[in-house]
Amino acid sequence: MNDCIFCKIVNGDIPSAKVYEDEHVYAFLDISQVTKGHTLVIPKVHKENIFELMPNMTAPLFESVKKVADAIQATFSPKGLNLLNNNGETAGQTVFHYHIHLIPRYGSNDGFH
Ligand code: 5GP
Ligand code: ZN
Repeated sequence: MNDCIFCKIVNGDIPSAKVYEDEHVYAFLDISQVTKGHTLVIPKVHKENIFELMPNMTAPLFESVKKVADAIQATFSPKGLNLLNNNGETAGQTVFHYHIHLIPRYGSNDGFH
């Protein structure tokens, strides 16, 4: 847990571009923007993946995803938005602190496939 890069971001030990924060959730721009406005929503409590989430963590997380989605829509006016959540190395997870990607889509050549 102490080595977790996203825990360090929540604690302010590593800088991040904050998009949203409440008691349970932190959201920030992905350091490697696959499209403009690519944002990650994470629980403040360290949980590795969806299987480790406690039942009472899911509603605050998704309520925050909805708020951030609306903020992205208002700010960047994308034509679409992908939600993505990788669980496990086999599924493409590279940071083992649960996170949901919000990836705004601007058209067929926006760079994300
Ligand atoms: P995953 O592949 O685990 O689903 O996604 C991890 C994401 O975390 C990647 O998109 C990567 O760019 C992002 N990321 C990794 N390290 C940092 C960091 O230090 N700061 C920020 N803002 N994003 C990070
Ligand atoms: Zn963590």
